Amino acid sequence: MRRMPEQTGTIDYLIVPLEAGATSFCYYENPAYYSGGGDFLPLTVLRSVHDYAAKKSITINFLYGNRRPPHDYEEIIESTNHVKMLPLKLKKYYAEGVFVVNRDDVRLIDALESSAQNTFILRLVKDELQKLGPIVDVLLDKCRRLDLVLPDIGSFSGREYDEYAMQITRIKNDFLNRIKKGHTVELNILTDRLLLHAMNNCNAGLVHLTVGCNGKLYLCPGFYYGNEDDSVGSIDNGSMIKNQRLLRIGNAPICSRCDAYHCKRCLYLNNKLTLEINTPSRQQCVVSHLERDCSRVLRDDLVQLTHDVTAFAPIPELSYFDPLDVLLRDEKRAIKRHVPVSNPAPAVNT
Ligand code: SF4
Repeated sequence: MRRMPEQTGTIDYLIVPLEAGATSFCYYENPAYYSGGGDFLPLTVLRSVHDYAAKKSITINFLYGNRRPPHDYEEIIESTNHVKMLPLKLKKYYAEGVFVVNRDDVRLIDALESSAQNTFILRLVKDELQKLGPIVDVLLDKCRRLDLVLPDIGSFSGREYDEYAMQITRIKNDFLNRIKKGHTVELNILTDRLLLHAMNNCNAGLVHLTVGCNGKLYLCPGFYYGNEDDSVGSIDNGSMIKNQRLLRIGNAPICSRCDAYHCKRCLYLNNKLTLEINTPSRQQCVVSHLERDCSRVLRDDLVQLTHDVTAFAPIPELSYFDPLDVLLRDEKRAIKRHVPVSNPAPAVNT
């Protein structure tokens, strides 16, 4: 029997790329960002987005490209409950927003003014992994919160894991020195796990959807750029998601056993790397567990520093970096236990 699409639950916000070359803020790439130019979102779609948000009382995350939108766009944007997500190079025009540091923006970070209002997203590719520590160091001096995203995590293997582990240990040590000087700041890969007691994932398709320039809805911008036919509805007619249950953590066998609570559990990467929307890639698991382990050491260092064992719950040390290994090991053990019963060894005639 054909399964009917399920009506989407409560969506808290929409993500809306304002132009063909809108910046990514996450794991997916938008190649048009670097080639520049391209059309703005049609005004009719922007008006529909505005009306939809007003009717549902939700927020819009507008993704900007490398230029300011025309005046009539700005008027609609300002009349919508919204968050701006902009390439760092637009900071000279906008005081508020979440500023994305792509590889073409890194050269701008030294000149940034420090402010407790600043929130940055650093998208760092693996070719620049060796510069991660110094770049994060500069940015942490100038913001309240920094989110690190590794867009090409899908191609990580042994060498990158080792380098990443080394870099985040360095970042953790610098972070501790900051704390000693009274400078508190948030860094997603280190501090989020300290405060979480349950999964806090991206939740694409459950709490947010993306509107393409065609007015159609997508699980996230990655799905939109990956395949425009992969829509889950439209801004005018609402959303209907096939097998929406697969987006939920309870239907993700590996993730539901995991306590790397800060992991984005990126459905876009799952789909791209394992072809299963509810199965994470080894790369995502290993990187999240390296971060989890660094958070564990940071937590213990903080307890030593403050003599306050109650501030953050302990994070247990694990013997693995990929929960799939544990799952497979348990399965192997279960099979071994059953073999002698159902398949007794043949008698040996002497
Ligand atoms: S599914 Fe979520 S975490 Fe993954 S690329 Fe899309 S927005 Fe980012």
